Amino acid sequence: MTQTTPPSTAIANAFAQPFDGEAASAAYRNALQVIGAVEPKIADAIRAELADQRSSLKLIASENYASPAVLLTMGSWLSDKYAEGTIGHRFYAACQNIDTVESLAAEHAKALFGAPHAYVQPHSGIDANLVAFWAILAQRIESPALAAAGAKHVNDLSDADWSALRSALGDQRMLGMSLDAGGHLTHGFRPNISGKMFHQSSYGTDPKTELLDYAEVRRMAHEFKPLILIAGYSAYPRRVNFATMREIADEVGATLMVDMAHFAGLVAGKVFTGDFNPVPFAHVTTTTTHKSLRGPRGGMVLCQPEYADAVDRGCPMVLGGPLGQVMAAKAVALAEARQPEFANYAQAVADNAVSLAEGLSSRGGRLVTGGTDNHLVLLDVTSFGLTGRQAESALVESGIVTNRNAIPRDPNGAWYTSGVRLGTPALTSRGFTGDDLDRVAELIVDVLSAATPTATADGGASKAKYTLTDGLAARTQAAASELLDAHPLYPGLDLS
Ligand SMILES: *Cc1c(COP(=O)(O)O)cnc(C)c1O
Repeated sequence: MTQTTPPSTAIANAFAQPFDGEAASAAYRNALQVIGAVEPKIADAIRAELADQRSSLKLIASENYASPAVLLTMGSWLSDKYAEGTIGHRFYAACQNIDTVESLAAEHAKALFGAPHAYVQPHSGIDANLVAFWAILAQRIESPALAAAGAKHVNDLSDADWSALRSALGDQRMLGMSLDAGGHLTHGFRPNISGKMFHQSSYGTDPKTELLDYAEVRRMAHEFKPLILIAGYSAYPRRVNFATMREIADEVGATLMVDMAHFAGLVAGKVFTGDFNPVPFAHVTTTTTHKSLRGPRGGMVLCQPEYADAVDRGCPMVLGGPLGQVMAAKAVALAEARQPEFANYAQAVADNAVSLAEGLSSRGGRLVTGGTDNHLVLLDVTSFGLTGRQAESALVESGIVTNRNAIPRDPNGAWYTSGVRLGTPALTSRGFTGDDLDRVAELIVDVLSAATPTATADGGASKAKYTLTDGLAARTQAAASELLDAHPLYPGLDLS
């Protein structure tokens, strides 16, 4: 896993389709006038959020900026329609326009990711995972139970069949990535229902290289025999070899589920191809649509044909009625992601992450795994004598928005942590280049070097409080503003 030198391909317009600034300005001014006439405080909050987004150096790896076309699509009467069920099979009348919207979103998703089936109803990433879990259980457990009962459909099962099914559901196993190695709560951890539905075990990373150790994953899979082997992460700065993960799943008869919530944009933009593209290898792939994919807040499930029927039962199994306005915005965002410009964007996201990583490590920062080959960097801040909590606060005070994150085998635990997670999807949407990310790295190192933990009464060091050299926060804010002004968010969009 070597770092490549970032090419100097600056993207002139980060959005796949340049938007008409005058039209977007008129649309928003008029919309805010209509909203403000009913509840002016909400119109004000919408204006204030734009101002805040424009003026912050956003390095939160899970956030992005959707295009005005995606955002405007969500404000329509498609919201007023109930459409439980699936395309062409609704429990409500007069769903023809929702059928159009949902089919189009699903068609775009299938074409973009080369997936046999797409289900675009999930309201969020967590919902997409819940749909996937139930679909896998249904496909894996109902099918044999149905066959044994000589039944064709779940509705044909007797009470005794259901009882047998429930006891079979009792000890379902899931093997996923541990939280401190970068896994996600929904991969079988206690605060999420997955931790209660499944008997969970987790694989970590190699203590020396901090990289995924496939031999160890294989060993654990053979020992634990999971029903679901789950791959995917929120804070692992490297690619995953999904061909190997599928091999392991097949060896133990597990279903391979990949949660690509964070890196779907890199898959869509063909940065992750071959063994690193999860879609052909996973039985079921889930994602969010609002992170690197740059669509509306929502989720999606892609799957192999044998899981399609079970996945389509997501609503009403675990989902409420589909959100027509959001499925429409997914269709718009997926259409954008099918433009060749989106591949340039995705490549720039990855190149910018390399520039950020090199900028940090050349100035003495220690990176978990030594670098990155995706959209994020995990900086170990213990070398600055800080906890993740102190680093996060000192950076926010200086106008740089990141979030603290545990590092593998974190000495400061999950609350204070020892790392900050930095991602490039949002800044790249503003048109930031490699040189800009190097400057961002310089600002981050300056702030962290100038922060010191406050002494506690007993002579120890606080894990939360810190002091920052006088004037540094203001100077950093000014430097950040310069970068932001050079790359305005939604140029041409004027609400005044
Ligand atoms: C963000 C994320 C989710 C959850 O997405 P929500 O839309 O917030 O529910 C699930 N899985 C992974 C890996 C994520 O990074």
